[in-house]
Amino acid sequence: MRIFGPVPSRRLGQSLGVNNVRPKTCSYSCIYCQLGRTENLQLEREKFYQTDQVLKEVEQELIELDKKGEKVDYFTFVADGEPTLDSNLGKTIKAINKFGVKTAVITNASLITDKQVREELKKADWVSLKCDAVREKTWKKINRPHGKLKLSEIHQSMKKLSQEYEGELVTETMLVKGVNDNRGDLERNAEFIAQLDAFKSYVSVPTRPPAEDYVETPTPQKINMAVQIYKERNIKTEYLIGYEGNKFSSTGDIKKDMLNITAVHPLKEEAVKELLKKCDGKWSQIEELIEKGLIVETEFNEAKYYLRNK
Ligand code: SF4
Repeated sequence: MRIFGPVPSRRLGQSLGVNNVRPKTCSYSCIYCQLGRTENLQLEREKFYQTDQVLKEVEQELIELDKKGEKVDYFTFVADGEPTLDSNLGKTIKAINKFGVKTAVITNASLITDKQVREELKKADWVSLKCDAVREKTWKKINRPHGKLKLSEIHQSMKKLSQEYEGELVTETMLVKGVNDNRGDLERNAEFIAQLDAFKSYVSVPTRPPAEDYVETPTPQKINMAVQIYKERNIKTEYLIGYEGNKFSSTGDIKKDMLNITAVHPLKEEAVKELLKKCDGKWSQIEELIEKGLIVETEFNEAKYYLRNK
């Protein structure tokens, strides 16, 4: 169980992350996943952690943040995998509400064919559904889903949730060069997303090191085409451009911060330097983590990133 952050989120302000599943446990193994390939491809929900344990850790974190005068805008269930695989999700969202902070869930939507999962998501204030591809062939190529998943059923359930949900429902489409950035795929996506009447639809591109080396960012022309195709269907589209910033909160313990944050959020070199400043730390501490094999240094788009090595 890891509570991390708050990290600056492009959509949610200062977001305290709740990592509620076992590492790399997901129903997809997306080619662009920043966590690497999925080790545990599963569809069965499990109780990974007890709700009481989550509450206790969140409470401790809030006390620490309060001492530093830092605020949290959202508790975000953004796991080291797929958060709806946690069968305690609904119970935990309900219980965590006692802290008076809004809750968000970032899900790949593959499990919402289960009515229980939809009911649990309805308890959150903000839900993001992944929608990278509507064409079956493209979906399999980009998201590499569990073999038992059926895309048509997922789509029906997404529509159902959008009709029933009272919070802010958003969609997110990750564009990968040569995979889903062509006009045909984008038009199919847009036609489907338009039916969800989402509060907002985000179009994003890989900005962190992906699971597969061949993943590349689409050209600016293709990104622009995607946004225009979505907008033509009256979808409230926003392009998530750029990096979130380096305003990562610190506990004062650089090792703890590096291990917690990089487990779900690869850090750019400048962000690591900012953290070091806050902790009064030295670069040699980062080198030590690398030497011990706890984090790895990698490059993407000519920038250095640091990630947790499991
Ligand atoms: S990007 Fe999300 S849905 Fe895709 S494999 Fe990674 S954790 Fe799972």
